[in-house]
Amino acid sequence: MKLTILGAGESGIGAALLAKKHGHDVFVSDRGAIKETYKRELEDNGIAYEEQQHSWDRIARADEVVKSPGIPDRVPIIKELVSKGIPVISEIEFAGRYTTAKLIGITGSNGKTTTTRLAHHLLTTAGFEVGMAGNVGKSFARSLSEEQHFSCYVLELSSFQLDGIRAFRPDIAMLLNITPDHLDRYEYQMQNYINSKFRIAMNQLPEDVFLYNAEDENIGAYMQTHSLKPRLHPISSQMIEENGLQVGGSTFDMGECSLRGRHNLRNALFAIGAAKLWGAEDEALQRGLNTFASVEHRMERVAVIDEVEYINDSKATNVDAVYYALEAMDKPVVWIAGGQDKGNDYGPLLEVVKSKVRALICLGVDNQKLLDTFTGIAGIIAEARSAEAAVTQAAGLARPGDAVLLSPACASFDLFKNYEDRGKQFKEAVWSQMKTN
Ligand code: ADP
Repeated sequence: MKLTILGAGESGIGAALLAKKHGHDVFVSDRGAIKETYKRELEDNGIAYEEQQHSWDRIARADEVVKSPGIPDRVPIIKELVSKGIPVISEIEFAGRYTTAKLIGITGSNGKTTTTRLAHHLLTTAGFEVGMAGNVGKSFARSLSEEQHFSCYVLELSSFQLDGIRAFRPDIAMLLNITPDHLDRYEYQMQNYINSKFRIAMNQLPEDVFLYNAEDENIGAYMQTHSLKPRLHPISSQMIEENGLQVGGSTFDMGECSLRGRHNLRNALFAIGAAKLWGAEDEALQRGLNTFASVEHRMERVAVIDEVEYINDSKATNVDAVYYALEAMDKPVVWIAGGQDKGNDYGPLLEVVKSKVRALICLGVDNQKLLDTFTGIAGIIAEARSAEAAVTQAAGLARPGDAVLLSPACASFDLFKNYEDRGKQFKEAVWSQMKTN
């Protein structure tokens, strides 16, 4: 088969390697520059590619096209391929054809990475040989192109990856929550985004399982009007009790788990639920919960300096994630927020900010919206243009017993390379604060 791969990121390169391995005639095309390490991999495997351009004639010769999740459907090249009748699929769809492994697929607006990692850790602790792929670390296709094969994979799936599936069918699917995000890719129609998330279950059969958030309004509304085939496992906060999490008749203590906040208890309910369905023993699950290392840039405890706790939640790039971060705080907060606004509605934060935030430091190029929204609500308000300046100001404003929380609600691209860079610079600034003390 002639296969064109559009976009040479982690998923595109993974798809190219897997396709080559299965004897397809592969051509990779990227409109931008391709990373040196990826180019070397393509060359080492004898895979043809181009960068800084899309050669239509060559691309359109394909029997099928694998598109990077980063390329919107509305760009002309995709529209033309579709109008010519050439199937355009995602890397997940492509990879799914080359494995008989059992699949646990995880999607949602927030909590995917945390839940994927936790489910993987719980299953591994319980003695299962499980791979982890998708939006975390390696692409699914790359994992399948490698020597080591697993009989089960836990996959983090974004809505963009789900948009490009046709037959992909997870044995266990999880839908954690649906709150507004990425609406620019869905014609600003929330319903389109909701439909996209539910694609995770569209090919499931009655023997498969669908775990879903029973308290999420968007999920509830969809399920009232659509009947799903798989066995349904609702997850609700009623399963969170004072003495621990109640799942399938067992109680799990969260006292030693590094995950913080109610949102993470819900993530844990999903991960435990799936692992139990997989046959993991309660004792192993409890051990797994106790030994789970927190995930970098997600409510990550950085240090305590002068009795002030510093927390890196740089991955909180939307309002809902910040809501749960602030809700999880049991002490006054110096909140560092801001960056590139994605059309945020800060309304849902007003109350929690009023009750918990002692000071707000706006870390962005244009902070006007934050200033307009939170003046008179967030106590003291200051501005900073670097992570270092933000931490220095935060240290000056925090009192013993407070927390300094980086939880931006915005994308990072105005001042940083990405959210990881923002989180790292924040942590370095905190550590150098510690040294100067
Ligand atoms: P994703 O992979 O879906 O982006 P992450 O696990 O990376 O999710 O977490 C992203 C952000 O959302 C973090 O700031 C985290 O604290 C927050 N978060 C995690 N789980 C939830 C949840 N269930 N509901 C709301 N926010 C969450």
